[in-house]
Amino acid sequence: MKPVVVLGATGSIGRQTLDVVEDLGVDVAAVAAGRGSGELLDIAGRWPGARVGVATPTEEERALCSAALGDRVIFGNEAMVELAAMPGTTVVNGIVGSAGLGASVSALAAGNRLGLANKESLVVGGEVVKGALARGGGELIPIDSEHSALFQCLLGEDAASVRRLVLPASGGPFRGMAPERLETVTVAEALAHPTWKDMGTRITVDSATLMNKGFEVIEAHHLFGFAFDAIDIVIHPQSIVHGIVEFVDGSLKAHLGEPDMRVPIRYALTHPARRPGTAAPFPFAGTTLTFEAADSEVFPCIRLAYDAGRAGGSAPTILNAADEIAVQAFLDGRIGFTSIAVVIERTLADMEVEAVGSVEDVMAVDRAARAVAAEHLGGAC
Ligand code: MG
Repeated sequence: MKPVVVLGATGSIGRQTLDVVEDLGVDVAAVAAGRGSGELLDIAGRWPGARVGVATPTEEERALCSAALGDRVIFGNEAMVELAAMPGTTVVNGIVGSAGLGASVSALAAGNRLGLANKESLVVGGEVVKGALARGGGELIPIDSEHSALFQCLLGEDAASVRRLVLPASGGPFRGMAPERLETVTVAEALAHPTWKDMGTRITVDSATLMNKGFEVIEAHHLFGFAFDAIDIVIHPQSIVHGIVEFVDGSLKAHLGEPDMRVPIRYALTHPARRPGTAAPFPFAGTTLTFEAADSEVFPCIRLAYDAGRAGGSAPTILNAADEIAVQAFLDGRIGFTSIAVVIERTLADMEVEAVGSVEDVMAVDRAARAVAAEHLGGAC
C-alpha cells in the first residue's frame, strides 16, 4: 500500500484514518489540519517522517509549529493542495466543508488515489472533480459509508443492468417527530445522533435535517453516473444496511455492517484487496432491520437537494454554502432548527444558476452564496 496523506487529521475521519493506518502498518507521508493544535503536533511526533500542513493557523500556532517542526511544516490553504499532490500517495480527504474541494482536485490531477470522505467536493464541484479525475488518471474511492457500500455492490456489474441505487438514512434523532415539535428542538437534541457516533457537529446536524442524505444523493450521482430519478432514499433506523443496488431483474445487492467509519476507510486504502479489520463477527441473532419511506414534507432539505442536483451548475454549490451558514447559525443559537431549510430555500431562490468550470468558479459562487444566506438569517428566526 502507498504512503497516506491524511487531510483533516485532527477531525473525526482523520483520527479514525490514523487508527487504520497504524493498524495496517502503512506509512504516513503527510498530515494536515485547519489549526496548529497540540493534537496535530502529537500526530506529527508519532510519524516523524511525515510532512505537516496547517491551513489557517493563528500567529501563535504558526510560531509554535515552526519551532517544533522546522521545514517539515507548511502553512496556508495551499498547503492542503500541495500535500494532496505528493506523488505516489493515497490521499484521504477528511476536511469538513467546501474547503476540501481544492485538495480533492489536486490529488486526482496528480494521479493519486483519493479516499473521499469530504462529500462536499462532489456536491459543490462534481464536474470539476470528475474533470481532474479524467485528466490526471487518479482513482476516486468513496469513504462516505453509503457510497463505499454502493461502490462495492457495483463492482463487476454493468451500469445498464441497474434499476436504481438506494441510500439508507438513519432518519436522525427527529425521525417520526411531529412537524410542530421540530420547531422547538434544541442544539443538544440535534447533536444526539442515534447510531453513528464520533461524527463532526456539522454532519450531525445535516443528518438531523436529512440534508446529509440529500448531499449524498448528489454525491452518488457524480460518483456512479446515474440520473437523480434512479437514486432513492429509504429510512433505515439501525444503520446496518449501508447501500443497496436494485437491478433490472429484481435482484438486490446490499452492503451491511456495524456502523463504523473505519470499515470504509480501510477499504479505500486496501481496494481491491481486503485486509483484516477490528470488527467482531456480525451478531445476526437479535438484529432487526426495518425500513420506512423518507418524508420530504417534514424534512424539506431532501427536496431542496434533489432540486439543486437536477438544476446542476452552481445550484448544489449554493445549496451547500447556504447549509453551512444556516447550520452554524443554528449551532450558535441564532436560528431555530426548521429555519435551516428556510434559509437555504430563500438563498437558492435569490441566486441565478450558472455554469461552474473550475475550483475558482466554485469558490466564487460559494462566497456569494454565503453572503446571501447570511442576509437571510435575520428574517428566518
Ligand atoms: Mg454517509
